Amino acid sequence: MIPDEVRQQVQQSLSKNIKAVQSVSGGSINEAAKIRLDDGQSCFLKWNRTAGAEMFSKEEQGLKLLKSAGTGLSIPIVFATGETKAGIGFLVQEFITRGQPKPDSASTFGEALAELHRHHKKQFGLEYDNYIGRLPQANTWHKNWVDFFIDARIQPQLKMATDSKKLGEETIAHFESLYKLLPEIFPEELPSLIHGDLWSGNYFYDETGKAAVYDPAVYYGLREIELAFTHLFGGFPSEFYRAYESVYPLQTGFSKRKDVYNLYPLLVHTNLFGGSYGQQVKSIVKRF
Ligand code: ADP
Repeated sequence: MIPDEVRQQVQQSLSKNIKAVQSVSGGSINEAAKIRLDDGQSCFLKWNRTAGAEMFSKEEQGLKLLKSAGTGLSIPIVFATGETKAGIGFLVQEFITRGQPKPDSASTFGEALAELHRHHKKQFGLEYDNYIGRLPQANTWHKNWVDFFIDARIQPQLKMATDSKKLGEETIAHFESLYKLLPEIFPEELPSLIHGDLWSGNYFYDETGKAAVYDPAVYYGLREIELAFTHLFGGFPSEFYRAYESVYPLQTGFSKRKDVYNLYPLLVHTNLFGGSYGQQVKSIVKRF
């Protein structure tokens, strides 16, 4: 199931042989497997036949940045990234075994995320661009969140969606009206280090009950965009939010702003998967 050339190159990069392979499902972008090496170690391997090393090296940088923040989150160690001669990109990381949540797992997760969000920079963005899913994500530094949100988050995705006719031109006009209101909608806060793609498919509890997060799209952003996204597909446990707010309370009115932040992931989903996501974008943006 793992393409032969990926297997060979992974073995070469790690200087170890792959002894056993078990497929892993659940990823929305890449193919993945659990591999056991000849020294007994298990690793998580993902690869993509249409994306080269670039996308995975950005993921590696993101995971390293999250790890270097030294929070209570479990972040997989990256062992190798690369690309085969035929252009198949791959990433090998620590295999984290899924466990059962402990009674305090969700609250410890909330506290750990708040700790991560306490890592600040003076501007919004990052030293390098990266990816959200398989789509490019620009991280050009901006002094204020409104400009960053429009220029680096909404506009590129909106253009992609209208160019591909997933959204009609009339939606652009609705966004233009919303842009004028953004300075009153968003609170003034320092840029926080965020995971950038935190939904229920990008975390689980490990065997110790700690939250493991992976597949990030990191940057320094307004932390509310991260929390808004956690609510988009069903939400996280209530103890998670209570614990988060006990460490780093949100400013009042977050629930009213939530949908505005979620225009970004909804546009990304429109571009990646089409379907009803464009409809959700339209129904939110029409309200402004
Ligand atoms: P994709 O990039 O395709 O979205 P993910 O990185 O989200 O793929 O991984 C797909 C699935 O593999 C996840 O939903 C999760 O269940 C599992 N997974 C991800 N990283 C690890 C890891 N380091 N160890 C064990 N399982 C993992």
